[in-house]
Amino acid sequence: MPRPTVARIDLEALRRNYRTACQRAGSARVMAVVKADGYGHGISRVASALADLAPKYAVACVEEALAIREAGLAQPVVLLQGVHAETDLTNCAERGFEPVLHSEQQLTWLSGSRNRPRLWLKVNSGMNRLGFHPGELASVMQRLDRAGALATLEGFVTHFACADDVDSPMTARQTEVFEQATAAWPERMRSVGNSAAHFHPGQPLYDWSRPGIMLYGGSPMIGKTGPELGLEPVMSLEAPLISTRMVPAGESVGYGASWVADRDTRMGMVAIGYGDGYPRHAGTNTPAAINGQRIRLIGRVSMDMLAVDLTGAPDAREGDSVELWGRTVGVDEVATCAGTISYELLTGITARVGRHYL
Ligand SMILES: *Cc1c(COP(=O)(O)O)cnc(C)c1O
Repeated sequence: MPRPTVARIDLEALRRNYRTACQRAGSARVMAVVKADGYGHGISRVASALADLAPKYAVACVEEALAIREAGLAQPVVLLQGVHAETDLTNCAERGFEPVLHSEQQLTWLSGSRNRPRLWLKVNSGMNRLGFHPGELASVMQRLDRAGALATLEGFVTHFACADDVDSPMTARQTEVFEQATAAWPERMRSVGNSAAHFHPGQPLYDWSRPGIMLYGGSPMIGKTGPELGLEPVMSLEAPLISTRMVPAGESVGYGASWVADRDTRMGMVAIGYGDGYPRHAGTNTPAAINGQRIRLIGRVSMDMLAVDLTGAPDAREGDSVELWGRTVGVDEVATCAGTISYELLTGITARVGRHYL
């Protein structure tokens, strides 16, 4: 029997989160961002579960887009990072992938290519990661025109740096820059919104929004959990309790003997560790749950197991299932304890953990 360390994926919760995104997007259409293996949930299952709702998907790279086609899905797929080689442009054109054009190199490839995909132009509105400067846009458009590529241009995209913080003035500033930069081409579509932008009152989302983390129930906002934003957890990460013991006061548990019992403590070992993608930076007091009761981690996370204090769950027995995150303990809470964000935890679950779909 395989080790019952599993990620249970609630595809109905995913669908409800997608509908929440649609409600928040107003008149914008919603492309489902399923990059990084559907944020760790399994790209083909996630994309298939949204197939009758989502008119478009977005991924980082061609391989991910191909996985969507292999799942038998025909919707257009936006490549947020564009192509990494000229030959990919033909691939995109033939398969209905829509690369984002963000660099000189990509522009040169496109100009020389005969088989042209539908595409998006990335505007750097202040994130300073990728994209053309607003001042360059007119000349880029001229070059696309000369290359005969305007016919396949869907529109403009940009990405926000600080949308997780409603108090930051950066989002409004970037929106303003983007709006002015693209004003000369009002017939083109525009897309700005990651998940966080759906939670800014009054934020325009234009024609297409691009939510990722909120579909999976993770919070895109600083200081708020997914459930506090009306999102449902999609992944429940579970592992069995494989051993329990009393640790006498004064004795330690685990590597480095970093946790020492201040009183006789009933503790248990859980069959999951950083080799499964559970964060090693989650220290003592990180929450978990057993039989619906909240417990806490103690000591250091090992590769294949971790220790919990069972004081709060006196009935817990070997074989019981421990929830590392899910409906009782939010993934955002664990992320905060580990000094990271839910995105990293969800995408970090390794192949050793079976995905079970509800
Ligand atoms: C990943 C990504 C998104 C989705 O971001 P979330 O914060 O997960 O909603 C949207 N747009 C771009 C360009 C991205 O790279």
